[in-house]
Amino acid sequence: MATNMDWLNRSLKAVWHPCTQMKWHEDGALPLAPIARGQGAWLYDFDGRRYLDAIGSWWVNLFGHANPRINAAIRDQLDRLEHVILAGFTHAPVVELSERLSALTSGTLGHCFYASDGSSAVEIALKMSAHYWRNQGHPEKNRFLCLTGSYHGETLGTLGVSDVELYKEAYGPLMRHAITVPSPDARQAVEGETALDVARRAAAGLEIVLAEHHTSVAALIVEPLVQGAVGMVMYDPAYLRLARALCNRYQVHLIADEIMVGFGRTGTLFAHEQASIRPDFLCLSKGLTSGYLPLSVTLTTDAVYAAFYDDAVTRGFLHSHSFTGNPLACRAALAVLDIFTEDHIIDRNRSFAERFTGMLAPLAHHPRVRHFRRRGMIWALDIDTDLPDFRLRFYREALAREVFLRPLGTTVYFMPPYILDNDETALLAERAVAALNAVLETDSPSLLEKEDSGSNVVK
Ligand SMILES: *Cc1c(COP(=O)(O)O)cnc(C)c1O
Repeated sequence: MATNMDWLNRSLKAVWHPCTQMKWHEDGALPLAPIARGQGAWLYDFDGRRYLDAIGSWWVNLFGHANPRINAAIRDQLDRLEHVILAGFTHAPVVELSERLSALTSGTLGHCFYASDGSSAVEIALKMSAHYWRNQGHPEKNRFLCLTGSYHGETLGTLGVSDVELYKEAYGPLMRHAITVPSPDARQAVEGETALDVARRAAAGLEIVLAEHHTSVAALIVEPLVQGAVGMVMYDPAYLRLARALCNRYQVHLIADEIMVGFGRTGTLFAHEQASIRPDFLCLSKGLTSGYLPLSVTLTTDAVYAAFYDDAVTRGFLHSHSFTGNPLACRAALAVLDIFTEDHIIDRNRSFAERFTGMLAPLAHHPRVRHFRRRGMIWALDIDTDLPDFRLRFYREALAREVFLRPLGTTVYFMPPYILDNDETALLAERAVAALNAVLETDSPSLLEKEDSGSNVVK
């Protein structure tokens, strides 16, 4: 029987792992964990160890691994139709999914354009927005605004609207950079200020930029309520309300990138609902299939759709991906939506969140923890530490305690699947504190041969 070591060695020889300095895998600073199977919230390796998947396998998994209902939906679809081109053809799963997603926006976003990953969904929104303005006789409106610390993907187009320096550094000359506007990060509140005050200040900053540049700007892109990759930055919904009003006033689209925050993560099905606004574009992926299959979608308004509807082919949206609207992935997404309604997930999450927040009190009140925060089903806290390799140390200490947590720099966060039982919840809370204390008490030498500040911000 193959062991962890067998798979680890073969993987290092053949696989280039994402978002990773491969040398750290080789020299053991960041050990590679081979996984044999998953069940519910747990991942199991080849040597009989298990890990509680407390970040939903990079924010995608909502309903656990090997979920019986999603498995059954995919199996059923597999016997009917695995894939068909979506240009010139259509099929039941993509029609049903589009109708249901649109209904979830109360019909305000009437058409769905599909791709296979989040970055592509963002690229589609960017291209559609600029192409809309071109079709409207305003080709000069082709620049974008993004928030400080924003993350919208890693293709060249999406890096251009992202503000995480580490990911962009090497590719600067290859991309077209967006204009960054202030983030409403609630942690910026000074003595006597509220998150609402910070939101208003950031919106005032946005207005200054819009007033100057609106004639050349196509869209503002935001991660509604929580900016993920930069460190689970949370902000007041008022910012979205103010940004929506400013976008209307200055004739600029609002793109809501809900790839991470969609599907209940922030406590409502979509994050923008908490601001009682609708975006012009809504990008979804990750939780859309509960992490089962690669699928993303960009929804937009009838007004945008109508601007492309014409006899001239060049006014159309000539964009496609080979696996656009894949039937298996769409069936997985339909099963996910069924689970949301049948199991009253949004309500159930609310009581789970209360319980888990209570269990995290030792972390919230830990002397080395700053800015303990929560929005819906995302918990985050900043650790007061100078350890350059905090992220790696915490990751290892948590894994040693059967818990899979992957800090963003010195920010520890929890993004658990929506299925934890009481024992799993308690185990996660207790072992996270134990891992933190183990890291903070250590005086072992750095895990990294070279001091590398970059090690602390990788997602
Ligand atoms: C993950 C993510 C993306 C990119 O999605 P991929 O599927 O990794 O390309 C874009 N925006 C946000 C907010 C994300 O969290």
